[in-house]
Amino acid sequence: MSDDTIRSDWATKDFYAELGVAKTASADEIKKAYRKLARANHPDSNPDDTAKHEKFKAVAEAYDVLGDADKRKKYDEARELFSRGGFPAGGGGFGGGGVNMEDLFRERGGGGGFGDLFGDLFGGGGGFGGRRAPRATRGADQETSTTIGFTDALEGVTVSLRLASDAACPTCNGTGGKPGTRPHVCATCEGTGFVTASVGGAFSMNETCPACGGRQLVYDEPCPTCHGSGRGRSTRKIQAKLPAGVKDGQRIRLRGKGAPGENGGPAGDLYVTVKVAPHRVFGRKGNHLTVDVPVSFPELALGAEISVPTLDGPPVTLRVPAGTPDGRTFRVRGKGATLADGTKGDLLATVQVQVPSHLDPAAREALEAYAAATAGTRLRAGLFEAGN
Ligand SMILES: [Zn+2]
Ligand SMILES: [Zn+2]
Repeated sequence: MSDDTIRSDWATKDFYAELGVAKTASADEIKKAYRKLARANHPDSNPDDTAKHEKFKAVAEAYDVLGDADKRKKYDEARELFSRGGFPAGGGGFGGGGVNMEDLFRERGGGGGFGDLFGDLFGGGGGFGGRRAPRATRGADQETSTTIGFTDALEGVTVSLRLASDAACPTCNGTGGKPGTRPHVCATCEGTGFVTASVGGAFSMNETCPACGGRQLVYDEPCPTCHGSGRGRSTRKIQAKLPAGVKDGQRIRLRGKGAPGENGGPAGDLYVTVKVAPHRVFGRKGNHLTVDVPVSFPELALGAEISVPTLDGPPVTLRVPAGTPDGRTFRVRGKGATLADGTKGDLLATVQVQVPSHLDPAAREALEAYAAATAGTRLRAGLFEAGN
């Protein structure tokens, strides 16, 4: 197979229309149509009619392909690909976009021309040598972040995430060309998508063609949306189930929720960094809940029963013994949050003395009496002991 068996300008040339026959026309019908048109437009009988000269040339070109069963088959397959890949097909505009041309191009190794490209795509069809199945490629891993509520973090929650990823430019379907304009074979790489660079001695290396970016075709006018890169952004929304017990700042891996794979390859993974919104009352320590409980000095000194809230049940009573130091933490077993597996963590309640900023006269009098009664206590004696 030679590289000129398939030509990129076929994308824009409808040979069937040129001959005025149906795509299903028999070889005989094509031959008849050609002979009739060739006779009618022949330059010998129309010496001054340039339009007819052009028509004669176009008809001859069409018959050169459609009149040869092998070439016709390749032409049909190429046209099918062009229409699906978004290349402008003669008057038809853009096709359905089922095949991303850029992906096909990217899958190719070095060497070869269009033959290789089509060989890849039409792996099962006849007439193409050196074919190779498109390589399955795993999708890229992606990163995102989300903020969830305090209770959701403890119990587990399904969140909906909007993910942006690289995709073919929607305007040009990834071709990089201005819609409606015609591609032509890249002159720099002669349509291979690669250039050979010498790296010294007998060694040389294939590099992606700088002129066409490996796409093999170039457009005179770049796509206005992507400026010729062929790349765009697409967003998709996914539902992600976050496990129970997620901590603030934790990075969770969700298998297979990343970018989709290519050619049947598996999807990549999605990493979600979770921010947990703080709770007005409760904090977390692992699977346990924490709560700071404001208390008065007399409550700690004399002992008290203090009502403490829980996250998902009625309040519990904390028995604070007389002489409890400030900052002591009490563990109330089984009164923390209910976890996804049905078990309950503990509630860790820490007492914190509050000093009143204002005293009414009666309270002031009582405190002054207390101070007088305890004047003999040398609270700070230890600070001044020798040997410190
Ligand atoms: Zn090139
Ligand atoms: Zn574009």
